[in-house]
Amino acid sequence: MDPSSYARVHPSATTTAHTHAQTQSILAKAQAILINANNIDGYVTACQVSPINAAARRLCEYIAWNDQTVAEKLNERYANSESGAHFIITGPSTEGGMPHTRPPNVICLPAYWPQERLQETIRHELIHINQRKDPKGWKERLATNGWIPVDIGALPPRWVARCRLNPDTFHAPFWAWQGRHVPMPLFEREDKPKLRDISVRWWDMEEERLNNQPPTSFTQTYGPLDASSAEHPYELHAYHPSHN
Ligand SMILES: [Zn+2]
Repeated sequence: MDPSSYARVHPSATTTAHTHAQTQSILAKAQAILINANNIDGYVTACQVSPINAAARRLCEYIAWNDQTVAEKLNERYANSESGAHFIITGPSTEGGMPHTRPPNVICLPAYWPQERLQETIRHELIHINQRKDPKGWKERLATNGWIPVDIGALPPRWVARCRLNPDTFHAPFWAWQGRHVPMPLFEREDKPKLRDISVRWWDMEEERLNNQPPTSFTQTYGPLDASSAEHPYELHAYHPSHN
């Protein structure tokens, strides 16, 4: 094993070692941040009470990781940045190992996230932090692009219940493209849901039907997109900032 890969797998090996008490205190702080986040948005609780979301996460543990070294470095680096983001390292299985954000300003990176993907991941998550900080500004921006928020009660409960919950979109989950077409990230399998196994279906509010394909006007505007981008305008803009 060469030294560079050793540093990647064991980031703590390259930094000043903490005492056990310091490590425990840093971990306790990260845990408190996650508890505070759930007090604000109730996301983890919502995942637990949604049968399909709970089943998809049955092997996932929503936890702060015991090694916060990478987060500490990032927090130093971003301490004076305009974003105001705060990083914590979550468990390798938290949210299926997907980076995400939590309120009010928390970026969660899974333990062992590859160094080479870090910069791009942070760029994406910082957009989600901005969406959290400025929901009104984003609502206006999205309105000019053809998106309006949709009340959950306007959608069929059957399809709402089958959606994969996403911490980055949980605070404003449904939007209609051109006031009519609502992307819904549905688990493929109702009986054996997997976190990464979703497809975006489009609820047509006018015709009251669920379509497999996006409306032509959407594809003409954004081109073909994968499910992670198409599931929600917040994701679309986080993955493709050029549309901002
Ligand atoms: Zn995202």
